[in-house]
Amino acid sequence: NEVWPKPADTRIITVANQKGGVGKTTTAVNLAVALAHHGLSVLLIDLDPQGNASTAMGVAHHAGTPSVYDVLLGSSSLQDVAVPVEAAPGLRCVPATIDLAGADIELASQVAREHRLRKAISGYEPQADYILIDCPPALGLLTLNALVAGKEILIPIQCEYYALEGLAQLLNTVELVRTQLNATLDVSTVLLTMYDSRTRLADQVADEVRQHFGAKVIRSVIPRNVRVSEAPGYGQTVMTYDAGSRGAVSYLEAARELAERGRPSPAEQNQPGGSS
Ligand code: ADP
Ligand code: MG
Repeated sequence: NEVWPKPADTRIITVANQKGGVGKTTTAVNLAVALAHHGLSVLLIDLDPQGNASTAMGVAHHAGTPSVYDVLLGSSSLQDVAVPVEAAPGLRCVPATIDLAGADIELASQVAREHRLRKAISGYEPQADYILIDCPPALGLLTLNALVAGKEILIPIQCEYYALEGLAQLLNTVELVRTQLNATLDVSTVLLTMYDSRTRLADQVADEVRQHFGAKVIRSVIPRNVRVSEAPGYGQTVMTYDAGSRGAVSYLEAARELAERGRPSPAEQNQPGGSS
């Protein structure tokens, strides 16, 4: 495989959208595998108690498995709990277990509760070119930890009714985090997912998203493709399950674009419409 450009500093990308079922997990796992297949060292952090990213990585995540829960509670480091993923050398996954479901409440009384993940990542950062964080479908303390830890946010948007509804809430939260907790946070990337070319609606949504986010929107659009949804059942991503499928090819293109663009420079950040 060709080698994609290594970022000068570790890119920490939080995949967030408080809506469920928009393709967060699918996006996080496929980008992680694609980047690792091209010579980059990648850590994928599963931050959803459902553990769907862990499933797709073929990584154990039954209750009690050393996981991101232990990291947030401060009893383990990321290094301790990250496990190698078979799909690619250079790819590791921090699993999430159902134990994480109670973390919101357990963390609530602790000091620096929204900085837990950031602190853990700072110890791991030098080992990775990319750290991808898969968020749960809520704007609670787990997602807040991911927003405080991230340098960039990637928002997957499903080309469906109500796609943009609720996005304002996410963007408000991001703005709040930027002003109070993480000044360099930036919505760098938007990815259109589950695109169905047969519907005019999908085109309308895609146009609207491009108008709003401009150059932040990745050119490669992810089609709805049954191979993508089958892959997790085999403990895989579509990248290895069916590399020739339309789903795999479009995620590969999206990952390439993400890698080639690099992280937007501070001057380009936070401008509506993006960088070019
Ligand atoms: P989220 O993490 O935002 O809840 P998921 O990535 O789990 O969303 O996707 C929701 C469901 O849609 C899953 O069953 C997944 O396999 C399926 N899915 C995601 N992307 C695609 C796609 N491009 N084509 C077909 N099915 C998809
Ligand atoms: Mg998910």
